[in-house]
Amino acid sequence: RDYVELYEKDQAKWALLRNVNTVFKHNTLLPGDYVWLDLKTGHEFEVPIGAVVKLCDSGQIQVLDDEGNEHWISPQNANNIKPMHPTSIHGVEDMIRLGDLNEAGILRNLLIRYREHLIYTNCGGRTYTGSILVAVNPYQLLPIYTADQIRLYTNKKIGEMPPHIFAIADNCYFNMQRNNKDQCCIISGESGAGKTESTKLILQFLAAISAFGNAKTIRNDNSSRFGKYIDIHFNKRGAIEGAKIEQYLLEKSRVCRQARDERNYHIFYCMLKGMTVDQKKKLGLGKATDYTYLTIGHCTVCDGRDDQKEYSNIRSAMKVLMFTDKENWEISKLLAAILHMGNLSYEARTYDNLDACEVHRCPDLTTAAVLLEVDLKDLMNCLTSRTIITRGETVSTPLSVEQALDVRDAFVKGIYGRLFVWIVEKINAAIYKPPSLELKAVRRSIGLLDIFGFENFTINSFEQLCINFANENLQQFFVRHVFKLEQEEYNLENINWQHIEFTDNQDALDMIAIKPMNIISLIDEESKFPKGTDTTMLNKLNSQHKLNTNYIPPKNTYETQFGIQHFAGIVYYETRGFLEKNRDTLHGDIIQLVHSSKNKFIKQIFQADVAMGAETRKRSPTLSSQFKRSLELLMRTLSVCQPFFVRCIKPNEYKKPMLFDRELCVRQLRYSGMMETIRIRRAGYPIRYTFVEFVDRYRVLMPGVKPAYKQGDLRGTCQRIAEAVLGRDDDWQMGKTKIFLKDHHDMLLEIERDKAI
Ligand code: ADP
Ligand code: MG
Repeated sequence: RDYVELYEKDQAKWALLRNVNTVFKHNTLLPGDYVWLDLKTGHEFEVPIGAVVKLCDSGQIQVLDDEGNEHWISPQNANNIKPMHPTSIHGVEDMIRLGDLNEAGILRNLLIRYREHLIYTNCGGRTYTGSILVAVNPYQLLPIYTADQIRLYTNKKIGEMPPHIFAIADNCYFNMQRNNKDQCCIISGESGAGKTESTKLILQFLAAISAFGNAKTIRNDNSSRFGKYIDIHFNKRGAIEGAKIEQYLLEKSRVCRQARDERNYHIFYCMLKGMTVDQKKKLGLGKATDYTYLTIGHCTVCDGRDDQKEYSNIRSAMKVLMFTDKENWEISKLLAAILHMGNLSYEARTYDNLDACEVHRCPDLTTAAVLLEVDLKDLMNCLTSRTIITRGETVSTPLSVEQALDVRDAFVKGIYGRLFVWIVEKINAAIYKPPSLELKAVRRSIGLLDIFGFENFTINSFEQLCINFANENLQQFFVRHVFKLEQEEYNLENINWQHIEFTDNQDALDMIAIKPMNIISLIDEESKFPKGTDTTMLNKLNSQHKLNTNYIPPKNTYETQFGIQHFAGIVYYETRGFLEKNRDTLHGDIIQLVHSSKNKFIKQIFQADVAMGAETRKRSPTLSSQFKRSLELLMRTLSVCQPFFVRCIKPNEYKKPMLFDRELCVRQLRYSGMMETIRIRRAGYPIRYTFVEFVDRYRVLMPGVKPAYKQGDLRGTCQRIAEAVLGRDDDWQMGKTKIFLKDHHDMLLEIERDKAI
């Protein structure tokens, strides 16, 4: 039987068929029919699975599910199965066309498309603005990114071609020109879901920067450990004129420490594999396993990555980006110095009953001093003692081994962090062209946002709090755009509208960073307080937030972690080390050391610190306040753009092709609010014009209609055109100031307009 036909011709009969009780009573199922099978496991992320009927035998039904498992269903369990909607059987290109609009339906649609290598699915995507594309990571190279494909997707009417990341790129571009408005594309998803690859597919010149800011983690062999917003500028004729990269919060701690099976930044391994023997000799370098900083994760190689080849790619990319040989050499010197410093070892001592230490004299120490071009004695002093000023007198106090290691690590992180910032600035200088005054008004841009995905490890620290805070912001941007503003507008315009419920993460965001005494501000306050410790900070968090439902206080007074209910689940944060990471300051002796260096490059990257002076440095903003500030700016930038969303989905935890973990996917779909998104997209009106815009764009479709400025009754004219072209009863609506359309209306109008002009 043809379900599709039945569904289309006889809706009432279809509804009856879908009623579970009829399945057995009336033998409505036959072999080859598709059903939903509810295994009723009660697992949090389990949803009904698709299955095909194999046998209907003596009151029992045998089905084969999507995973290849067989089940026998007896009449007692009749309500475990339910016929499948025809749209779910072979899948649809746009989620809003799904008849089974529930998690199971959404999931299966992704699954069957994924199995056919169709990794992209639209979600009300045939709209000009606010398009949402779902991308499932294929973990294999698909032949869908060729020059031919680019050509196929260029300059196409929306909906003409199957969903693709290139369609998003093309739409962004088309929109920018048609609406003369800046566009942005927000790429989100868990770590390893495919955000960076999506970005690269839209834009190919990231090779250089991604080696300095990317590393192998458990989740992703090429994990971005910083966030970036790439703004591409176009001139009046629509040609690329330049670009600008904004970077957010590089994970500096990785330079000194990596979790088990993770690596330091790729650049170190690439450098050791790719440099010539002679170059390495000059820098005193050996192989990766010789360096403490490169072996803490017990992993120096990365499957499928050729560090040597990468190194030559990085070098050629940097050439394109106008890094000179001299600059490259200076960068290498600092990277080498970092590795040598990591190998230093210390011995505990006592002076005047104070804990002190000595750093062992070794080749690594000497080479570090040579590369940094500082006096060996000065370096040793800096690494083992600290100058403090009490009552106008300067005294040198010794550091314990532990303190000395902290000072060394802070220095190394300071170097790497500043080097990274310098490289980004240098790339910007190569790719950015400031607009001339006359151009300012006509220049348009497309921005791509690719940041670190939501993170929840066994142990989470300050970095994860910042990363997850950023993701809360992005989620709120999505929620605001897709649910709040949308429904507000429908209400304001007074059109017929049934409110759609959604999960709002504003409360969590308020608690983290918005409301008075929020978590970030309490951490900050404690960081500035001379006597503040991680424990006093945790106490303050507890007393302030213990009643907040989004806050999970420690179970007892010994525990050092607190939890936050994020939109993507609960994350527990280990507070030890929080304040130190947040303060992110280098003590004056280190700055003094850099100042005394003969190495012009290191002096240059520390320029601002040297210029600042001790007192200002102490008051310099903390990491979290800098981060919060840059996030606010980012959100402001995004809010004036027309947004596109790419929701990346990670199908399995093993980085393997053709492996679809249903529960993992349901979790991501649920947390990103996909259900509600499809629901609102289906019910909503993605296309809207003010009456003036509409009349001026489509008056060609009705002979004799004057331009908008000559119209007495604009609303009436608008309505007349719409009725004539779209039909009186179709699902479009007149608001107070705008007309609201479905995307097929827009398509029809555009086609007619193309014919008419
Ligand atoms: P994220 O930035 O979300 O953490 P990535 O973009 O780095 O994740 O993707 C992780 C890995 O998944 C990539 O290194 C690549 O191997 C694979 N991958 C992601 N997207 C694609 C794609 N469209 N085609 C092929 N492989 C992909
Ligand atoms: Mg990434």
